[in-house]
Amino acid sequence: MFKALVVEKDAESGKTSAGVKELTLADLPEAEVTVAVEYSTVNYKDGLCIGPGGGLVRSYPHVPGIDFAGTVEASDDARYKPGDRVVLTGWRVGEAHWGGYAQKARVRADWLVPLPEGLDTRAAMAVGTAGFTAMLAVMALEDHGLKPGHGEVLVTGAAGGVGSVATAILAHLGHEVAAVTGRPEQEGYLRGLGASRIVPREELAETVKRPLESENWTGCVDAVGGAMLARVLGQMKYGASVAAVGLAGGAGLPATVIPFLLRGVNLLGIDSVMQPYANRVRAWERIARDLPMDKLEAMITPATLEDLPRLGADILKGQVKGRVVVDLN
Ligand code: NDP
Repeated sequence: MFKALVVEKDAESGKTSAGVKELTLADLPEAEVTVAVEYSTVNYKDGLCIGPGGGLVRSYPHVPGIDFAGTVEASDDARYKPGDRVVLTGWRVGEAHWGGYAQKARVRADWLVPLPEGLDTRAAMAVGTAGFTAMLAVMALEDHGLKPGHGEVLVTGAAGGVGSVATAILAHLGHEVAAVTGRPEQEGYLRGLGASRIVPREELAETVKRPLESENWTGCVDAVGGAMLARVLGQMKYGASVAAVGLAGGAGLPATVIPFLLRGVNLLGIDSVMQPYANRVRAWERIARDLPMDKLEAMITPATLEDLPRLGADILKGQVKGRVVVDLN
């Protein structure tokens, strides 16, 4: 028997409810690798899936948790053997397939990545999908020419998961980081991660009035989208790139094409879910190298399975700071 957060749907009312239950290995879906899950975390999508699913969950009962790290317990695939430490993000695990909010998970070998040296399972989930995606965003900016010493890099939604990890990695790599936050009380936290300037959210909240403003930013990791992303596009330096990661502020993009045409600005889309294996390995290796562990530690709020319904609601309201680490041991 092992513990899991199970979301069930009432057949009559259609309402869902989440609670901690005992399951057996026979309850798990068929797949090649069984993992003893040690840590998971809380992402925006988890908030949706703990609730009614928002169209993400395929069938109930459901075990959410879009990412986890743990140790292989049994494997029918030659790439993994018992004792291997692994991490999983993406592939619609926790949405269409049972996920990491359980002490055991059974998943496809193709979905796993071996943990790199220097990263334990707790640190891997302190990073989680949010931090992994932040690293993908930084890598995409670098692939498009971002180098330290050429000006400030903007991070939006900075006190959230993606933003916190992006801030810490960029600062460690020698970039000047300007952190946008709607929570002024998090200034000390963000400066501790390495931000050299705090930009109040209101400064970028208004919709675009002029398609081009002063050239302020040499790069941007954007977790917010919406009107803020549109404003930021008009403030990028000539030839600079924005990595679009999230939609915490909205899915619309009330922008003009002028920054693309007159300043050669690039808008780079970042998807973590279907990322090819080689790039996943590269991103986890970069995380182990370029994310200082003391900075990661400062981002962590510890949690248990029992805390998840509350935390799921909190993340949907943008009220989670940094990274939640769910201990399943
Ligand atoms: P968090 O909730 O931890 O962080 C989001 C942050 O955005 C908040 O902490 C807040 O930061 C800011 N924010 C929230 N609401 C608003 C608003 N209305 N206007 C402006 N800013 C706002 O989420 P994550 O960091 O985990 O994820 C960020 C986004 O990235 C989400 O939309 C998520 O779905 C997406 N995502 C995408 C992935 C991909 O593969 N592309 C992978 C992972 C996440 P502050 O308080 O500092 O202002």
